[in-house]
Amino acid sequence: MDQRQIEELHSSLTQKRQNLREAIKRDNQELERQLKREGRDDGHLDFNHPADMVAGDPDYEKELNLLQRERDELAQVNEALERIAEGDYGICDECGQEIGFARLTAVPETTHCISCQEALDRARH
Ligand SMILES: [Zn+2]
Repeated sequence: MDQRQIEELHSSLTQKRQNLREAIKRDNQELERQLKREGRDDGHLDFNHPADMVAGDPDYEKELNLLQRERDELAQVNEALERIAEGDYGICDECGQEIGFARLTAVPETTHCISCQEALDRARH
């Protein structure tokens, strides 16, 4: 990959990070509204972290799963941005080969090349 390609991926990662942060904020607020509507607010709730308050509660499983996915994705995006800063971005964690620009354009936060990813997916199913 040349510098221009890395810059392109860097800006799409930055954009993705922004979108994810907004989505997490929105989903937290939605969860908070739901909790308040249901009268869960007994004056002791910490609405800065509504997701922590209902962790493990099956009534909120869907919202919590969504938030968890978004947080995981955000962590991956942050990690990819760190790798760009350190200069080892775009290298497969598994085999050490270059991941390839086309795949990174589609999934800029990925840490695996397409063949390792397929092998991992197969192993998981
Ligand atoms: Zn690989």
